[in-house]
Amino acid sequence: MLASCIGVCLNEADSRVGREGMVPEELQVSIVGGGIGGLTAALALRARGLSVTVFEQANELREIGAGVTINPNAMLLLHRIGLADQIERIGCLITGQVMRTSAGELINASTPRSTSSQSYNVHRAELLKLLAEAQPEGTLHLGHRLSGAREIDDRVILNFSNGVSVKTDVAIGADGIHSTLQREIGLKTFPLSEGIMAYRGLIPTEKLSWAKDIGGRMSRWIGKGRSFLCYPVSRGRLLNMVAFVPTDLDTEESWTAPGDLMTLRAEYAGWDDPVLETIGALDSTFRWGIYDRAPLPYWSSGRATLLGDAAHAMVPHLGQGAAQAIEDGFTLAVFLEGARAPDTPKRLKAYERTRLARTSQIQALARETGRLFRAEYDDPVERDRFMAKWMAANGQIRAYDAEAVAKDAFVLASDAGSI
Ligand SMILES: Cc1cc2nc3c(=O)[nH]c(=O)nc-3n(C[C@H](O)[C@H](O)[C@H](O)COP(=O)(O)OP(=O)(O)OC[C@H]3O[C@@H](n4cnc5c(N)ncnc54)[C@H](O)[C@@H]3O)c2cc1C
Repeated sequence: MLASCIGVCLNEADSRVGREGMVPEELQVSIVGGGIGGLTAALALRARGLSVTVFEQANELREIGAGVTINPNAMLLLHRIGLADQIERIGCLITGQVMRTSAGELINASTPRSTSSQSYNVHRAELLKLLAEAQPEGTLHLGHRLSGAREIDDRVILNFSNGVSVKTDVAIGADGIHSTLQREIGLKTFPLSEGIMAYRGLIPTEKLSWAKDIGGRMSRWIGKGRSFLCYPVSRGRLLNMVAFVPTDLDTEESWTAPGDLMTLRAEYAGWDDPVLETIGALDSTFRWGIYDRAPLPYWSSGRATLLGDAAHAMVPHLGQGAAQAIEDGFTLAVFLEGARAPDTPKRLKAYERTRLARTSQIQALARETGRLFRAEYDDPVERDRFMAKWMAANGQIRAYDAEAVAKDAFVLASDAGSI
């Protein structure tokens, strides 16, 4: 059950359209958090006829200067809400992946097998802008930071620190790794340092001689305890760099803490020339402490649930964090379509059951992938064996149709009388 509300309800708004009127009551869904997960979920829910409002704490939508990979399992879903063309317009189609040792010896090179397995690298800020602009007017409410939530009389009351209080039928916490709604439904996560941190930065591609004909290729170098990843974003205009290094510091779990270029350079002394050229071309860098979390025991309580990083934050090595948030939104839309207010607790539990095993499995694979990229496999045979296993598992993750799985799960749950 939701914890008691601490905030004072100064300006209580009932967000359900036609509650007292003659028109049929429409389920009102409120999403807390206007990041990649929250905004995509709003579009997926709306596409199934639900009435949705998004509350975002920031006064203006901002994203960090970094790239994000939209893997095929997410592209498939974005295509269904008409966004694929726009992703193609802002992004870079991934045309291959090359993995090398720190000295530059080739370990593995792959190319996408078919158009159905296409992935794009995009600039996070450009993706967020696209998702925000796709929202119908009046959907997104900025400057609303959730401070408390409670369930009363079959509805959830959301209290925001600007004094606004909103009643809703369903509350979805898409409020990221430090989720307030997660806390309000009685959960607590314990971030565990992976013992590594990442430096990241963006460089105009034209400044790098080695990247002149990079096309859509992703390049990764792996060496003892660290790795270095580069890929183009913004239609190839910028190169996104992420450099994972060991740390025994309790680094901040922030995406925007400034990093030191001299220290970064020292971390990669003696590495392959493109790595050194890339670091040399950076004007600034940011540090990012990498933390892992165990799967949560549940995501839903009554009429509230979680999605994205609030539900299953994972280490970034598989590039699936955003994709899993997107899958969550589409699954929720299937389970909430046509629901009446009294149905929602069971529907949210069914959503959780459908998603929890998959995201827990992906959290675990992302952790193992980190070990591969940090070259923790001393024996190359063992490394290649894991690599083959990893590529097969990753292929399965990327070939998944979350919406189709949700529809089947919905039918099964209906037949079993559990929703
Ligand atoms: C540098 C970097 C690279 C990554 N690369 C990839 C990749 O290549 N592929 C991939 O799939 N994933 C990647 N990820 C992971 C991915 O970005 C996250 O998993 C994804 O952003 C999660 O989306 P979300 O909407 O759940 O959370 P977020 O993007 O964190 O959004 C949460 C939103 O909630 C808002 N919020 C927080 N608290 C409140 C509150 N109390 N009230 C109201 N609003 C609130 C925040 O302001 C924010 O807008 C990467 C992550 C990082 C940092």
